[in-house]
Amino acid sequence: MALARSYGAVVSGVCGHLVRVEVDHSRGLPTVGLVGLPDASVIESKHRSKTAIMNSGLSWPRGRVTISLSPAELRKHGAGLDLAIAMGILGATGQIAIEHIANTVFVGELGLDGSVRAVPGALPSVIAAAQAGVNSVIVPPGNLVQCQIVPTTCAVACLDLNHVIAYLRGDREPLHAENSATFPADELTDLSDVLGQDDARWALEVAAVGRHNMFMIGSPGVGKTLLAHRISGILPPLRQEEILEATAIHSVAGPSVCNQPITRPPFEAPHHSATMAALMGSVHGHKVTPGAMTRAHHGVLFLDEAPEFSRNALEALRQPLESGQVALSRSSWTGSLPAKFQLLLAANPCPCGNALTDTVKACECTSMALRKYALQVSGPLRDRIDINLLIPGVRSMAMGESSGIVRERVIAARQAASRRFAEFPWATNSEIPATLLRTKFCPESEGHDLLNTYVGNSGGLRGSHRALRVAWTLADLADRKRPTKEDVALAIHLRNSESAMAA
Ligand SMILES: [Zn+2]
Repeated sequence: MALARSYGAVVSGVCGHLVRVEVDHSRGLPTVGLVGLPDASVIESKHRSKTAIMNSGLSWPRGRVTISLSPAELRKHGAGLDLAIAMGILGATGQIAIEHIANTVFVGELGLDGSVRAVPGALPSVIAAAQAGVNSVIVPPGNLVQCQIVPTTCAVACLDLNHVIAYLRGDREPLHAENSATFPADELTDLSDVLGQDDARWALEVAAVGRHNMFMIGSPGVGKTLLAHRISGILPPLRQEEILEATAIHSVAGPSVCNQPITRPPFEAPHHSATMAALMGSVHGHKVTPGAMTRAHHGVLFLDEAPEFSRNALEALRQPLESGQVALSRSSWTGSLPAKFQLLLAANPCPCGNALTDTVKACECTSMALRKYALQVSGPLRDRIDINLLIPGVRSMAMGESSGIVRERVIAARQAASRRFAEFPWATNSEIPATLLRTKFCPESEGHDLLNTYVGNSGGLRGSHRALRVAWTLADLADRKRPTKEDVALAIHLRNSESAMAA
């Protein structure tokens, strides 16, 4: 009788959890028992492991094999436990020393030839190992580049079962990835592609600095979509902890196995026909597939033709905009996924798109249709928008600055903000809590008076808070220590930019 222990990992939501794999080999009828809430894909692991072990020239044990996966209450799904189970069996049968596998986390699916194949969610598994203090992790070659971004643990890759055994015995080197986590040289899309529209370009820069939510309204063809797609190029690269979180999400989200670290803010632009599941995330069995809101974590969610989205889809944005999380509650999985995104909305001024044009084409929409269109983006959602921008028709072909130049300014202003917030857990102006806006982060006194007037007039308390956050961003861009009266006035104007849709 022999007992061996190894470690694997499973993913629940977008978080990894270590799974202890215990394998017992004893005399008796030749059976393989697998306990510990495995789903069908984990049960199939018995067959994959058996064939992989035999095809690798190793021997499958005679007698009774019992495999226990713990913690027992955690549901196990996916093929990522194959390698850990196979190593446990090899340990229990003396084909590798028990101490060689006891303190290593094994992640990977086994091919029938013994090869170690890439799996979704490898990075969250390595993060879980790092959090548990394990610094030896073996991952599939197809996941290695991504897994090496975890700073506190050493992830290496092996090609197949024999390679794993040789590496653990110290007979063979593991695979090392070339460090390809580099900043992409040039974006294919550059802000200088947007001709004219100086005000809109500048508003996009303000939004990028403070991570402010923005709503762009304009006739078809004025460049709303073009502008929105260029925000990624002017945003600063992600910080280390943001890279880990964003890459972990994309590692789970698929559809194909992703191996590259996400170093730039993600940009998600779902179509207006997207279902609620596509936006919020879906659960199949125990596998959670993150939706567009979660894939946009630390980046931008852009809804083009916003009034064409279903009312339910637009309302579902409200909770993540407040909490930075999207709650999923299904019979087989309940929990929250991270969804801290910057929201960009774009819309035509009316269903036919001609309400703002001064050409021969006149708006043919009925007043009923106009009203329905305007109400589609509800008041509470509009309340969460910092910048409402009316984009006029293109009047000049002047070429503006490139993304690289604007990005330098955005980074400098972000740095000014993060120095101010050094003692706080947030980094951008849009995140300043309302309670601190009236005390520690209030504007100069004249600006304060202006805000008070705005609260009484039309802004309301929430509106004045949003305007003040934008005023801080304007001050950061102008390298001022505190927002002036002019900054506050401009911020109020940006929040109130006359919306043709509301007319
Ligand atoms: Zn119209």
